Amino acid sequence: MSNQKLDQLRSQLDDVNLQLLNLINKRGDLVKGIGQIKEQQGTNRFDPVRERAMLDHISNHNQGPFEDSTVTHLFKEIFKAGLELQEDDHRKALLVSRKKKPEDTIVDIKGERVGEGDPSFIMGPCAVESYEQVSTVARAVKEQGLTLLRGGAFKPRTSPYDFQGLGLEGLKMLKQAADEQGLAVVSEIVNPADIEEALDYLDVIQIGARNMQNFELLKAAGSVNKPVLLKRGMSATISEFINAAEYIISRGNENIILCERGIRTYEKATRNTLDISSVPILKQETHLPVMVDVTHSTGRRDLLLPAAKAALAIGADGVMAEVHPDPAVALSDSAQQMDIPTFQSFMHELQGHRV
Ligand code: PEP
Ligand code: MN
Repeated sequence: MSNQKLDQLRSQLDDVNLQLLNLINKRGDLVKGIGQIKEQQGTNRFDPVRERAMLDHISNHNQGPFEDSTVTHLFKEIFKAGLELQEDDHRKALLVSRKKKPEDTIVDIKGERVGEGDPSFIMGPCAVESYEQVSTVARAVKEQGLTLLRGGAFKPRTSPYDFQGLGLEGLKMLKQAADEQGLAVVSEIVNPADIEEALDYLDVIQIGARNMQNFELLKAAGSVNKPVLLKRGMSATISEFINAAEYIISRGNENIILCERGIRTYEKATRNTLDISSVPILKQETHLPVMVDVTHSTGRRDLLLPAAKAALAIGADGVMAEVHPDPAVALSDSAQQMDIPTFQSFMHELQGHRV
């Protein structure tokens, strides 16, 4: 007899659960409607005065058996869930996010398909200094079977008195050296006004760490039909980095490669701290290829190879490093560029580690 009663009560409980479920979802719909109106009005979604009034209204009608404090606690949770529902609606998935596009973006640079599986390498001097310098490096890059040649023509230097790069003339030298070897050109642009003219001489627009939040530059790079290599700002969080990429894609340019280049921390043993875990995070959160710049992150020649191995092991789509025919006399970053023989053995070691 008592078992029968128990079953009855349980079945009533199941009914009430479903009624509560319906009511909670009905409430959710109403809350979403209110959220949309608030969005149009530009008013804050969270309104503590209104919440207090609702809780008072509920307590005033509470006839038990639950205590007011318990009822208030339960409704507070329901309110919180409602607020989250409004925010989810508001926070539309970013265009660079996996949520928006689950499959990997592959960036095609004159046939080199970055992000397709085989690692890509962007190699070349820190700065273009002369045609002879870049053509020596271009030949070495070609010899390794690589396709992407880097070199800074517009250099963002910490001191205004340091070598600022050869500008458009440097870009032309780099392009000539690259063309002779059938390589593609990766070079940094620092001024939106330079993009138009540079388009004839480069295949990838690099946006450097110091300009990661130069929003006008990001928008300008997003408005042209050229792949962009976006480097992480030296004090940028991953979220800021992703949002910087969003600036580019929001203008229509989806061909973006993210580049982890180390962040500034209290550690002085390396030039920057290579945030290696950013690689899988960026791969999970976005659909964009991710590369690692081992030169600027470590600032140490002895760490280039282990850092590159780590980058590939953790899932990076490629590695960037600086190569100079005679690093000792380089006009920038002389302590960390590889000379040609070092570059050759670096590549040899890495090819052996390809997975
Ligand atoms: C560079 O790659 O030439 C460079 C200046 O690097 P970063 O912007 O990462 O400092
Ligand atoms: Mn450099």
